[in-house]
Parts: sequence; structure tokens; C-alpha cells
Amino acid sequence: MKFNTKTIHGGQSHDPAYGAVMPPIYQTSTYAQSTPGGHKGYEYSRTHNPTRNALEQAFASIENGRYGLAFSSGLAAIDAVIKLLKPGDEVISTNDLYGGTYRLFTKIFEKFGVKFHFIGMKDAASIESYVNSNTKLIWVETPTNPMMHIIDIQVCASIAKRHGLLLAVDNTFATPYLQQPLDLGADIVMHSATKYLGGHSDVVMGALVVNDEALAAQLYFIQNASGAICGPQDSFLVLRGIKTLHVRMQRHCENGKQIANYLAKHPKIEKVYWPGLESHPNHLIAKTQMRDFGGMISFVTQGNSFEEAIRIVERLKLFTLAESLGGVESLAGHPASMTHASIPKEEREKSGVVDALIRLSVGIEDVDDLIADLEQALG
Ligand SMILES: *Cc1c(COP(=O)(O)O)cnc(C)c1O
Repeated sequence: MKFNTKTIHGGQSHDPAYGAVMPPIYQTSTYAQSTPGGHKGYEYSRTHNPTRNALEQAFASIENGRYGLAFSSGLAAIDAVIKLLKPGDEVISTNDLYGGTYRLFTKIFEKFGVKFHFIGMKDAASIESYVNSNTKLIWVETPTNPMMHIIDIQVCASIAKRHGLLLAVDNTFATPYLQQPLDLGADIVMHSATKYLGGHSDVVMGALVVNDEALAAQLYFIQNASGAICGPQDSFLVLRGIKTLHVRMQRHCENGKQIANYLAKHPKIEKVYWPGLESHPNHLIAKTQMRDFGGMISFVTQGNSFEEAIRIVERLKLFTLAESLGGVESLAGHPASMTHASIPKEEREKSGVVDALIRLSVGIEDVDDLIADLEQALG
């Protein structure tokens, strides 16, 4: 089955009770038993729920994996992965990481004795010098937020294989439409399904997909034991979102390309970060491991003025100033005062998050209207 069919049919079957084409929302916590242990495969909804199971099979299908798991948020999914580890274990993570992931690693798991190394992975081969006998996991996010760095997943996978480590890839920005990390050698794919998979800015959810049966069993155990599951209503919404993922992504990419080219030519703009531009430092890796380049774009205006960047995001009308990304509607953000405000200025600027940096999540509106909005805001 090809990807554009999998988004609609992957892992799905019609409801056995009445043939409902969409999985019903099984809004129940428990299931009747005829005799102790005599049930139809479902006992308690923390452990299993038919609506959630339908979604988990869809997750597995679109990521070309065998096992999918749904969580109450992207961070709950990451939390489950780190719970595979024990005190003394070490993780090599990219330094250009989603802020919430960094906070979870450093403020929660370091307390429990897990050690994290945050390193630049633009040259993925450099990871190897951080591997020691305690290393268990490599954590990668690509493209990264908000600098849109691209990390070579195949190089990371070969290092992980050579040393018997797990490789986990946060595939939130790319989605399986653009890249399928399991096919590139990763062991675990993670999503904030809040973003493109849900696609309509109406639900918070996380996902994991793996191929290895023993690894899946460990993660299902953690999912049930820790209990950060999502409800049936949210499962239904994300399942519905996934059905249009391929058409939404196609338009996100088309609009992204036109806006990146528009910004790259604009006299007031100094830098544009979008992996589809030939000027992007990792453009060649992006071309190899991604099918297209997505709708996430960051840019810096001339003069690096904090006040000017604030004025631009305030003047935007169609682009809503808001956290998050990946919905049908276009959003704009100012990392220095929003997502990255808690990081000291010198630290932020080292990784490129300067005062004038603006991040766009380009939606699927008519691109002429989006460009007109940018034009008036930059004017
Ligand atoms: C939003 C996001 C997360 C966290 O997901 P939540 O659903 O907000 O918990 C993790 N990684 C990336 C890349 C994200 O954009």
C-alpha cells in the first residue's frame, strides 16, 4: 500500500458491530466480563481502548512500523522512551532540541541519574566520540526547531548499530510524508501528534512507532504502568486528521516553497532558514532523506532588531501569533520572547536564535493571501 492510501486505510477495518466506516468513539473506562477474565480483548481503558487501538495501528502504518503507541502528549511519549533507561545510563542528544524535551531531560530525568550529552549533530559522525559503555540511546530531532538544521539519520543509525544503542527520532516537523526514520535505520519514531498528524490545532497528543517486538512490549508496559494515555475522543480526532495528512502536507510544502523564495528575495530580510533552499547548509542531506521540505520557515530581518521583529509579528493578520505549529492555519512565533525566552541571550544567540528571528508555520491557505500578509507586515 502506498503512503497516500495508508493515511486513509492503514491498519483500519470497519467496526465489527455495525460496519461503521469510522471507528466509533468508545467512551468507556471498562468492559463487561461474562466470567472473571472472560472478555472480548478489552478489560480497562488505560490498558486498551478500541478507538485508541485503531489510531495506534494508523500510526504504525504511516511510519512503516509494526507497533504504534498513543500518549496524552508528545512529552508523555518522550517520557515513556526515557523510562526504558536506568540510573547510570547515558543519552546522546542533539543540542538544538525542542525546549520541552530539554526541560524533561534535564529537570526530571537527570534527577534520576540518567546522564545527557547535548551536542551539535550537523556533522553526525561526531556523535561517535561521545559513546561509552554506559551509552544506551541517541536522541535526534530533524529538522530542528527553530533553526531548521538537518541531521543525517542514516549516519546516526550506523553509529547506533555499531555500538548496540537505540536511535530515537522526533519526526514531528517532518511527518512520515516527508521522511520515515524507521526505513533509515532508526529504532523508535516519536511524534507530537498535536502538530501535523492532528493537523487542526484542536488536540494535544503523542505517538511512538517501533518495529522490534521486544522493544514494543517494553513500551506498552510503560504506557500501561505509567498511564499517560490519550482518551477515545482525542484518538478519533487524530485518526480523522491523519486521513488528510498527505494532501495537507503537499500544500504545506508548496506554500512553504513560495514563501521561502519570497522571503529570500525580500530586501529587508537577511537570512532565511528552510531546508529546500540551495543556500541551506544541509540542503543535500535534506534532499536525500526527505521527500520535500515542509512548511516550517525561520527568518531574520536586517539589523537584528528585537523591537522590529515584535512589530512584524504584531502586524501580521492572517498569520496568528501563537505557540505550536503544523495546523491548517498559518502561525507566526518570535522564539526569543516566546519559546526560547527562558534561555539566556548569549546561549540562545550561540545556536542562532537571535532577537530578530521569526518562525513561521505556513498553513494551507491561498499562498497569495499569505504573501500579501507578510508584505504588509514587513512594509
Ligand atoms: C510540540 C513538540 C513536542 C512536544 O509535544 P507536546 O504534544 O506539546 O507534548 C516535542 N517535539 C517537538 C519537535 C515539538 O514540536
